[in-house]
Amino acid sequence: MVSRVIPVEPFDLVIFGGTGDLARRKILPGLYRRFQAGQMTDDSRIIGAARGELSDEAFRNLVAEAIAEFLPKTQQDPAAIADFLKRLQYVAVDAQGENGWPQLKALVRDDVVQAFYFSVAPALFGDLASRLTAHGIAGPQARVVVEKPFGRDLATAKALNATLAQHFAESQIYRIDHYLGKETVQNLMAVRFANILFEPLWKSEYVDHVQITVAETVSVEGRGAYYDTSGAMRDMVQNHLMQLLCLIAMEPPYHFDPNAVRDEKLKVIRALDPVRPEDIVRGQYVGLKGQASYLEDAENKNSKTESYIALKLHISNWRWKGTPFYLRTGKRLRARASEIAITFREPPHSIFDDAEGWRENVLVIRLQPDEGMNLKVMIKEPGPGGMRLTQVPLDMSFADALGEAAQDVPDAYERLIMDVIRGNQTLFMRGDEVEAAWAWADPIIEGWERRGERPQPYDPGSSGPEDALMLMHRDGRRWREIR
Ligand code: NAP
Repeated sequence: MVSRVIPVEPFDLVIFGGTGDLARRKILPGLYRRFQAGQMTDDSRIIGAARGELSDEAFRNLVAEAIAEFLPKTQQDPAAIADFLKRLQYVAVDAQGENGWPQLKALVRDDVVQAFYFSVAPALFGDLASRLTAHGIAGPQARVVVEKPFGRDLATAKALNATLAQHFAESQIYRIDHYLGKETVQNLMAVRFANILFEPLWKSEYVDHVQITVAETVSVEGRGAYYDTSGAMRDMVQNHLMQLLCLIAMEPPYHFDPNAVRDEKLKVIRALDPVRPEDIVRGQYVGLKGQASYLEDAENKNSKTESYIALKLHISNWRWKGTPFYLRTGKRLRARASEIAITFREPPHSIFDDAEGWRENVLVIRLQPDEGMNLKVMIKEPGPGGMRLTQVPLDMSFADALGEAAQDVPDAYERLIMDVIRGNQTLFMRGDEVEAAWAWADPIIEGWERRGERPQPYDPGSSGPEDALMLMHRDGRRWREIR
């Protein structure tokens, strides 16, 4: 199977923070990949913008180095890279001063799609937005892409939304959550809504519980001071895990249309019950075998910030009443693994004597590594013996099933940037969604702060604190192994 590449309209994409870490690691190599795939037209341009005084040549060298560093050798085609670099320009612009804005205005065309990627600290979003409009650079159809974190609580998210709204309509604002750009996450919607098989079972009557895991092996070393102001709840749950939860739990939208999808996601967030303190476990990794502890990485020996969190959520609506959703995410865990597992209930009556061999059906959607899906079903154990049951996976690794097309699946950032150019907001968070997620998270965080709660220690390489296991044990359930 070969995937079709449909070129997007000609565009000028300005990347503010074009020399920063995110631009070098993800945005620019991703754009090269789209160029190489034939998705960018010849007359499209990418303009790097930051305060540093760089020539076009120096910026092109920086991008060439980023491609060499962050893309596998097999994806580096010297002729295509040289051709791609010709589409790049650079302007020294200060978000907080007047330097560089007239030069930027002279460069950005108004007869092509205009996109402005704010890959800078959120404190600069307002400055960029006001100067883009004040200097008459951004036209009425221009799109702005904003990076996470989108606020650190409801008040700051509202303030950010209000600032952007002074200069741009909601239909022009693309709030990135790169989890939504992952191939499997979109496949989750295809599986749910393009097949008759699952949707009739997709409710509390048939689903016992859902587990969402985003486990990382990395520590916060190198960005500990920043991470310590955030923690797993703000950094992962309020955005990425919440988005995954929404896609699993939402009602079928009437159409695969940005506002229809986002309306349904918003309803899920609004239907979340307040979380009881006993349904949350927070953890901090300890030091082991010469490796630094969280407190050392964060350079704050009194830190109460969590590097791990597990929590049980309930959605109060007709579909999900009675089905708990267990979420967990953490650093320095046993393996890097992100997955959603939907565990179905027992059949109402078993006609087989072999109760021991029986296991529930589980649909596992793997986000990383090795994206794919896997449905665990019961079959008869092969052989001439009695009627014994065993569980086998119906496995669909996308790499196996889709062959060449799966090898070349765009990275989340590539796909999302092309969606910006296409003007498709389906995979971007709307302002009210972000605010609703903070309105849910704020009281939880405030509760910890009020009670002065300390996270529990856990060993690096483990699956998190003991109490997280208990969170499920006491419901007669078990976490899936992290591997
Ligand atoms: P970074 O490495 O610190 O880069 C910041 C960029 O902004 C640099 O190009 C810097 O260049 C430019 N800049 C700083 N002040 C400026 C100003 N006043 N006017 C114009 N440009 C200015 O940051 P980053 O890691 O790339 O992160 C960028 C954004 O993405 C942040 O909002 C971050 O939270 C978000 N994000 C990053 C990652 C990641 O993996 N890095 C992941 C998710 C989200 P000059 O100093 O030359 O101006």
